Amino acid sequence: MKLGGSAITIKEKPFTPDIKAIKRLAEEIKHADVSPLILVHGGGSFGHPVAKKYRINEGYKDSSQVIGFSKTHQAMTVLNNLVVDSLINHDIPAVAVPPSSCMITKSGRIEGFEERPLIRMLEMGFLPVLYGDAVLDSDINFTILSGDQLVSSLAMNLDAERIIIGADVDGLYTADPKTDSSARHISHLTLTELKKLQNKVGETKVTDVTGGMPGKMRELIPAVEKGIRVIIVNAAKPNNIYKALKGEEVVGTIIERA
Ligand code: ADP
Repeated sequence: MKLGGSAITIKEKPFTPDIKAIKRLAEEIKHADVSPLILVHGGGSFGHPVAKKYRINEGYKDSSQVIGFSKTHQAMTVLNNLVVDSLINHDIPAVAVPPSSCMITKSGRIEGFEERPLIRMLEMGFLPVLYGDAVLDSDINFTILSGDQLVSSLAMNLDAERIIIGADVDGLYTADPKTDSSARHISHLTLTELKKLQNKVGETKVTDVTGGMPGKMRELIPAVEKGIRVIIVNAAKPNNIYKALKGEEVVGTIIERA
């Protein structure tokens, strides 16, 4: 499951967590009691502004960015701490797994992943919590690894049954529902329809260094191709994440191979 940065932070206010939302989501995860489960979260107002300022996603260009890599990773650990703390407070055995310590990308794509600790954690009933992070890159020295790439790649490598994406809108629309009043909600999509729609949807207005909704869809395609079912729900609305975890009917967008 991926919880978008927009669902756990106040996206327009730098370094502002949505503590109420984080607490409620922890309650929903506890109540649903699904195992094995991996949680990935986005950067929202923590990771994105710093990453953007230092252009971390463009790779190493000059030495002035180096401190920006540290600041980006550090901002993410602060947000991650709040999420993991909240989960532990709800008696969920959550363990932070920083992607910068176990993954390397090549031109922005995951190239190497030390997955044994993660697999062992799942076997032992822990809830590993990963996040979009500044990571080292074998071609461009460093970059941003998005939570969306992470969730899709983990789901494929670990043969997940499904991917749940918690956003701050009710799923996919024909255009950005926040800026386009004619945007229509899409409740079900096949892979072919997703590919057709991919280039039409809008970009996000806020400081998102990892591609907003089109980027999300691009990352999800390979997982859907493998037969993994994706559901995008509004995590800002109470009980949606609970229902999605339980496999109950919920307003959202279901994406399936056929
Ligand atoms: P997150 O932080 O949850 O990963 P993003 O902010 O990157 O998510 O992207 C989600 C945002 O994308 C939504 O809040 C919405 O305003 C915007 N968006 C743009 N186009 C679409 C679309 N076609 N359908 C749904 N949301 C869209």
